Amino acid sequence: MIPVTVVQPKKLSGVWAAARAAKGGFKFLAGGTDLVINARHGKNAHRVWIDISGLKELKGITEGRDKIRIGAAETAAAVCSSPAVRKWLPALAQACRHFASPPLRNMATLGGNCANASPSADAACALCAEQAAAVISRAGKIRRVAAESLFLGPKHTALSPDDLILAFEFPRRAHRGVFIKLGARESFAISKVSAAVAAELRNGVVCSLSIRLGAVGPKIVRPESAEKLLLGLRPGAAAIADAARLCAEAVSPIDDVRSTAAYRRDMARVISKRALEAVLLKTS
Ligand SMILES: Cc1cc2nc3c(=O)[nH]c(=O)nc-3n(C[C@H](O)[C@H](O)[C@H](O)COP(=O)(O)OP(=O)(O)OC[C@H]3O[C@@H](n4cnc5c(N)ncnc54)[C@H](O)[C@@H]3O)c2cc1C
Repeated sequence: MIPVTVVQPKKLSGVWAAARAAKGGFKFLAGGTDLVINARHGKNAHRVWIDISGLKELKGITEGRDKIRIGAAETAAAVCSSPAVRKWLPALAQACRHFASPPLRNMATLGGNCANASPSADAACALCAEQAAAVISRAGKIRRVAAESLFLGPKHTALSPDDLILAFEFPRRAHRGVFIKLGARESFAISKVSAAVAAELRNGVVCSLSIRLGAVGPKIVRPESAEKLLLGLRPGAAAIADAARLCAEAVSPIDDVRSTAAYRRDMARVISKRALEAVLLKTS
């Protein structure tokens, strides 16, 4: 691991000053659970790390009239214990509850989970299903983009090095949501396959539906054909089974240390079916 200097600005303006001083040769440091591991494996060429974990502009979970805002430096533990997240963003709350292990959950942030862009990132998968917008600042200039549009491929995002994710914003809407993760263990395991589903039903009819699958493609997969099949339906077991088959057809998994492509594809069908049943067939 090359020696690094960690800069700890007290304010957001200090971040931009530190970024200018580092002349592009820096990384943002949040919980460090990806960055430090990568650096230990020789995958860090940046000598300056700008610690953003304590900045108040990246903190807080607020429930507004129309939207929920979660600061990018909020940890998985803070997110899953927030009453607002549990109420309005059920898939995200579950993703953060099943994330890694308790010590990791107290360090790992939502911003880091997205910026690291692993196809198996649990919170990122749920963020996409929950229709998150990312609030991004570059040298103080703010823009909002669909969080999903950030993911280009494995560990590859549309963010430039000086793009700082400040927060994620979600529409405040009553809906049902679920996140199901299949890993080697219940916790402390990276997903082999994951599914996040968010849906609105009116009189039993599906009027909005987002399905996202993790760890089964170069980035988080949206099986649009399965969404289209169920939209406008009062779904039963047969339609859900058909949609789950379409989910499995939409994925492009690989063999790796955690699983095989064939198992992942089959499990994409199985956990999509479970997730869709949990959301669309529950009676309350
Ligand atoms: C043992 C172990 C178990 C794990 N289990 C899981 C798991 O179950 N599920 C899962 O999804 N992940 C898991 N991870 C991966 C990791 O914990 C997550 O990806 C975590 O959310 C990363 O967040 P962080 O705050 O630690 O990011 P960091 O390591 O600090 O940063 C990661 C990357 O994001 C960038 N970054 C961070 N914040 C921002 C921001 N606000 N704006 C722009 N760029 C930013 C950094 O520059 C860096 O490139 C695990 C990791 C370990 C080591």
